[in-house]
Amino acid sequence: MCGVLGIMSPSGQSPSRKNQAIDVYRGLLTLQHRGQDAAGILSYDSLTKTFHSQKELGLVANVFNTENLGPLKGNMAIGHTRYATAGGNQRDNLQPLVTGYPFGIGMVHNGNLINYHSVRRKLKSEENLQMLTTNDLEIFLHLWCKYMTGDKNKKDFSFHKAVRASEKIFNEVEGGFALLGLIADVGLIALRDPHGIRPLVLGIKENTDNLGQKEYCVSSETVTLHFLGFEYVRDIAPGELIHINNDGELLSHIIEFKEKKNPAPCMFEWVYFSGAESSIHKKSVYEARLNLGKLLANKARKLIEKGDIQSDVVCPVPDTSRTASISLAENLGLPYREALIKNRYVHRSFILNTQEKRENAVELKLSPVISEIKEKRILLVDDSIVRGTTSKKIISLLKKYGAKEITLAITCPPLRYACYYGIDFPNPEELIAKDKTLDQIADWVGANQVIYLDESDLVDAIGEDNLCMACINNKYPTSIKDAEEFMQMRQLDKETTL
Ligand code: SF4
Repeated sequence: MCGVLGIMSPSGQSPSRKNQAIDVYRGLLTLQHRGQDAAGILSYDSLTKTFHSQKELGLVANVFNTENLGPLKGNMAIGHTRYATAGGNQRDNLQPLVTGYPFGIGMVHNGNLINYHSVRRKLKSEENLQMLTTNDLEIFLHLWCKYMTGDKNKKDFSFHKAVRASEKIFNEVEGGFALLGLIADVGLIALRDPHGIRPLVLGIKENTDNLGQKEYCVSSETVTLHFLGFEYVRDIAPGELIHINNDGELLSHIIEFKEKKNPAPCMFEWVYFSGAESSIHKKSVYEARLNLGKLLANKARKLIEKGDIQSDVVCPVPDTSRTASISLAENLGLPYREALIKNRYVHRSFILNTQEKRENAVELKLSPVISEIKEKRILLVDDSIVRGTTSKKIISLLKKYGAKEITLAITCPPLRYACYYGIDFPNPEELIAKDKTLDQIADWVGANQVIYLDESDLVDAIGEDNLCMACINNKYPTSIKDAEEFMQMRQLDKETTL
């Protein structure tokens, strides 16, 4: 998973005075939770007709400083927070990627192409293309340049050509993605996959330097818009291409397909991934998490009434499940307590990309509040169980400090199938729920019992009928014929980063 962000203001009369990279930097801070491996910004200065970029491994605040942001001049800029999936953590794979020929364009994206390896082979054999990275974004960059120039190698930009190019790209690639591009002297483009699996939103504000003109922001999440003072306009539609040009005009087209493609935004964005203060398709993440807690409380209540569960207190696994825990406690009439305090300076454990890093991170980041643990029967709430290692560590920590009984309540149904769209569990064999019963899962993680939310409750909680829930129900919105190779190559990536 990654965060993407682009800001575009009309070049106006004094383009060199614009420095949108500063706002992109500030905006990337709001997308840090989407990827902590690396960060990058690319700007374009219309006056000097040059790209400027800075990217490095590390957190946004560590990668950028006054010295390296200063030279990133220009009225338009794109930025990226990276969680390495395709292409691992090699420096060559950091985003943005940029090319100068046949015209200047830089790109960032969030998501994954399932058929990356077959498209890559095809480009190599048919066009003798030498790829410079192992990042699937390079495929987009190449296909875009190829289809925008066409056979006659015409390099001028038109929105009509961009629409045709996007149609051709959609015919070749399979996956979930949100893509932003910065085109020299032309403007910004944004493209969302045909099912809208990965989120992308549009915001607008008055440009204070050029009265009457607008500035646009396109981001993975609405939290960025609000933080930077942009007004939310709408979500970019599944399969939509947007172009904002140098005059501040916004052009848009939704690509049509012979076979209907249903929207399928990722349910995990609401459950776990997005910031609680964001909304996706106008459905608040915070509200969805409150609903998840409420509906899980209904299930827990029945078990409590039957005497199958005894709980004195509801405790969240910080941070994502805190909102659902508050609502679950309220609905059960049980006290809400924080038995574990998170050290905010340690990275998220699930998106750390090796088992060892994840296990160490759990110990480093959670400190027990012994008075709230000792002799307590705890209803411990978490948003999901992926591999189970984090739950196991946390439960063992709670037991070590005297918890009498632990019921693990999960605000999501069991994850039994792989994700190929950017949430990093492409190998179903790694998923604890793949072939274990509830009792076996409870035994493995050390809990007395495990309760999962039901699939229909998840849909009700989010309030969106068309969701991707493939990792729960094996109904993938795209073809997955290349999934086996995708999984194997991702495994190799992981082994090389060990
Ligand atoms: S498979 Fe699961 S995690 Fe992946 S995009 Fe679909 S819902 Fe999200």
